[in-house]
Amino acid sequence: GAEAPLLELRDLHVFYGAIEALKGINLSVRTGEVVALLGANGAGKSTTLQTASGMIAPRQGGVLLHGERVDGIASHELVRFGIGHVPEGRRVFARMSVLENLHMGAYRFKRPDPRDLERVFHLFPRLAERRKQVAGTLSGGEQQMLAIGRALMGKPELLLLDEPSMGLAPLIVQQIFDILKEINEQGTTLLLVEQNASRALQLANRGYVLETGEMVMEGPAGELLADPRIRAAYLGEH
Ligand code: ATP
Repeated sequence: GAEAPLLELRDLHVFYGAIEALKGINLSVRTGEVVALLGANGAGKSTTLQTASGMIAPRQGGVLLHGERVDGIASHELVRFGIGHVPEGRRVFARMSVLENLHMGAYRFKRPDPRDLERVFHLFPRLAERRKQVAGTLSGGEQQMLAIGRALMGKPELLLLDEPSMGLAPLIVQQIFDILKEINEQGTTLLLVEQNASRALQLANRGYVLETGEMVMEGPAGELLADPRIRAAYLGEH
């Protein structure tokens, strides 16, 4: 069937003042997929996620969810459409407890769903142990877990993840990626921005490569992993 993708970015042009950060990019994510968005620093990856989640309005082009245009809808409204965003740098509420942070993630509902809380504590037992701890005193890895858990409390159909491995030790990165795999297997679609191209492509079904605001490659994750250009540019092989 020609079912519309869950998310489609169509000919997106995004500007910061006179700087064109996205120069007409196209990207789609189908229900159930894990899609990796790769690219060097400053390529426009965060801008792409922020546009998809309504934090930035494109000057031209469209953001479509299940074939419906949603660009122009504010980000706090888009949560209602089932988009969860785990921003770069995690951005937990530092002075609130773990539990309060998780409750904040459910703000679109009258009250948090206890089943979602159970799910988050099952995925991240560490958060359950530390539910009363002030979030600002958590380790970097724990804060990343909390940021993901908080987004899950909003029952997202699509989770946008901006560099979940940033600044974390390899062991923690492995844990986070294992949990992302589990989250996807439980039915949540993922769009993942990553510097860690190798790990991202191992988890993903498909990938895109962004270079200074333009999409230069896309394909099945296995093909990208095997591509000599990708290996040289993003996997540190020369
Ligand atoms: P990184 O991995 O370093 O976060 P990125 O691929 O996510 O990079 P973006 O953060 O999307 O890239 O930035 C894309 C371009 O837009 C960069 O040239 C950046 O300097 C510019 N840019 C981003 N945010 C702003 C802003 N608020 N004002 C002006 N320019 C910006």
